[in-house]
Amino acid sequence: MTVHQCPKCVLRFERKTELDYHCREDHPDFRHEYPVRHPAAADQPHPAPPTPSSPAK
Ligand SMILES: [Zn+2]
Repeated sequence: MTVHQCPKCVLRFERKTELDYHCREDHPDFRHEYPVRHPAAADQPHPAPPTPSSPAK
């Protein structure tokens, strides 16, 4: 069963919507959004692609 762990506390929820509601109520400062990019990161036009963990044969 998938359990949604609250990133801000130890509580866990079965439903994503419950976690979302909990965060809004108990962690008003927390936002379910992607981290805001630092302005410095914008200077890099293309992030380096992930390196293959193992060589393809
Ligand atoms: Zn929480």
